[in-house]
Amino acid sequence: MAELQDILDQIAAEMATRADRGKVADYIPQLARIDPKQFGIAVALPDGSVLSAGDAGTPFSIQSISKVFTLAIALGRLGDQLWRRVGREPSGNPFNSIVQLEQEHGRPRNPFINAGAIAVTDAILEGYEPKEILGELLRFIRLAANDTDIHINKAVAQSEAATGDRNFALAHFMRGFGNLRNSPERALGTYFHQCAVEMTCVQLARAGMFLTNAPGQPRLISVERVRRICAMMMMCGHYDASGDFAFKVGLPGKSGVGGGILMIAPGRASIALWSPGLNARGNSQLGTDAAEILARGTGWSVFSGRH
Ligand code: GLU
Repeated sequence: MAELQDILDQIAAEMATRADRGKVADYIPQLARIDPKQFGIAVALPDGSVLSAGDAGTPFSIQSISKVFTLAIALGRLGDQLWRRVGREPSGNPFNSIVQLEQEHGRPRNPFINAGAIAVTDAILEGYEPKEILGELLRFIRLAANDTDIHINKAVAQSEAATGDRNFALAHFMRGFGNLRNSPERALGTYFHQCAVEMTCVQLARAGMFLTNAPGQPRLISVERVRRICAMMMMCGHYDASGDFAFKVGLPGKSGVGGGILMIAPGRASIALWSPGLNARGNSQLGTDAAEILARGTGWSVFSGRH
């Protein structure tokens, strides 16, 4: 795998030269303080090895990437019932948009836009305490990553709660349509904490291996659910830039406003990228560029025909 390591080293070297690194998310004050000069990449492979380059050992806020794990838990808990609460079509709108939610009577387009993720968290909260759900989420992620040193940064969660007016608007709106069972405070208190999980690229790449359906991986969810979650990631994982990501990279991925991207090469690898500066659509600027270079260098696009 020397060749893959070369590709990662070249990507990290190229990213270090980039002057335009995007803009760090500033609507969550704790995230606004992160140094935009950082870039990390890690690739986990079915043989258990993880190759990496750059700042792949630095923990960052996974933010919306957590929605992949809560979706996996929710599908395990509720099965297809979940789709009554949330759709599975791309939204074509920004991650925190409220417009479509009104037009579609409080049922969010998909589980990866904020409204949809809040509905998913609300669904798994029913009958449980927020603490229990967050404990289950951490157990799931730690098991997937085979690493117990993964935690929630409470300061980030509190920082987001203090400035989360748009998410509160979405939650109240859904409750108005009968699509939120818990109070907005309870659902969002849990949601903000799930978004504040911190992981390094190496940990995140390992944690994504259950989504590769590669032989020998821990079967945390069924093969069919993996297929469905990856389909959602491909169609909706980068908000209104999901089409562009599929066009340029051709792999299912999920981004977060902390600047992370989890990307799956089915049957082959799980990839984590991180650089805190975001592009105009709220996705990691360098992470997206690096994903494109990696997909080109490896031929891993699911549309490449090489299997
Ligand atoms: N916690 C963030 C929010 O709700 C997540 C958004 C994201 O990562 O895209 O605004």
